[in-house]
Amino acid sequence: MGRIQLKQVKKSFGDVEVIPPLDLEIEDGEFVVFVGPSGCGKSTLLRLIAGLEDTSGGNIEIDGKDATALPPAKRGLAMVFQSYALYPHMSVRKNIAFPMRMAKMPEAEQKKRIEAAAKALNLTDYLDRRPGQLSGGQRQRVAIGRAIVREPDAFLFDEPLSNLDAALRVGMRMEISELHKKLQTTMVYVTHDQVEAMTMADKIVVLQAGVIEQVGSPLELYRAPKNLFVAGFIGSPK
Ligand code: ADP
Ligand code: MG
Repeated sequence: MGRIQLKQVKKSFGDVEVIPPLDLEIEDGEFVVFVGPSGCGKSTLLRLIAGLEDTSGGNIEIDGKDATALPPAKRGLAMVFQSYALYPHMSVRKNIAFPMRMAKMPEAEQKKRIEAAAKALNLTDYLDRRPGQLSGGQRQRVAIGRAIVREPDAFLFDEPLSNLDAALRVGMRMEISELHKKLQTTMVYVTHDQVEAMTMADKIVVLQAGVIEQVGSPLELYRAPKNLFVAGFIGSPK
C-alpha cells in the first residue's frame, strides 16, 4: 500500500526556509506529479518523502504510520534517478540486482524478479550488456528496473526523462504510464515540464517557491486555475 500524507512538513537549509509548512495527501495507487519552475522545491519535497533529507518540522505518514524518522530503506519507497545513476562497470543484470543483493535476498528470488522486471521493461535481450552499450531510453528502463525489483509501495521519480531527447521522452512517458496502469502502484513524479504533468498525472501539485498553489486533476487545473501563475504554467486561458 502506498498512501503518503504530509502534515505541516517544512524544510529549511540554514536560515532559508525553502518549504513553508505544507499539507498533502497522496492516495494509494495515484499518479501524482509535482510541477513548477526550477528551484521551487520539487526535488526537496521528493527527497523529504524518500527520507534523503530530514524535515525541519511536521510529519510524514506512510500508510497511516509515522515515517518521519525512518531511514530511506525502511520506508518501502523506491526512488528512480536519471539514468546516469547506473553503475557503468556492472551488467544490466547486476545493476538491477543491486538493491536485492544489498538486502541479501535469496538468489532464486532475485533471479525471478530480474526476469519479471526485464520482461515488463523489454530488457530481456540486454541483461548481459553494460549501461554504456545501451541507448538512453534503455538505460532509463534499467534505472526503473532497479526500482521495480524492490516491489516498493511507491515509486518516486525526479525528472527521470530530462536527459533524453524529445522523441525518446514521448516514448518513455507512455512506458511509465503503462507501467503505472499495470502495477497500480503509487507514483510520485517530479517535472518542470507541463506536457508531462498534463499527460501523465491523476493529480497535479503546482508548486511555486515551496508553496502549493493548487492541487487537482489536469482537467480541473486547466478549466479552473486558481491564479495567474497556475494558468500560465498549465497553459490555460485566463
Ligand atoms: P527544484 O527541484 O524544484 O528545482 P530544489 O528542491 O532542488 O528545486 O531546490 C529548492 C530550493 O532549495 C532552491 O533554492 C535550492 O537552491 C535550495 N536547496 C536545495 N538543496 C539544497 C541544499 N542541500 N542546501 C542548500 N540549499 C538547497
Ligand atoms: Mg529538482
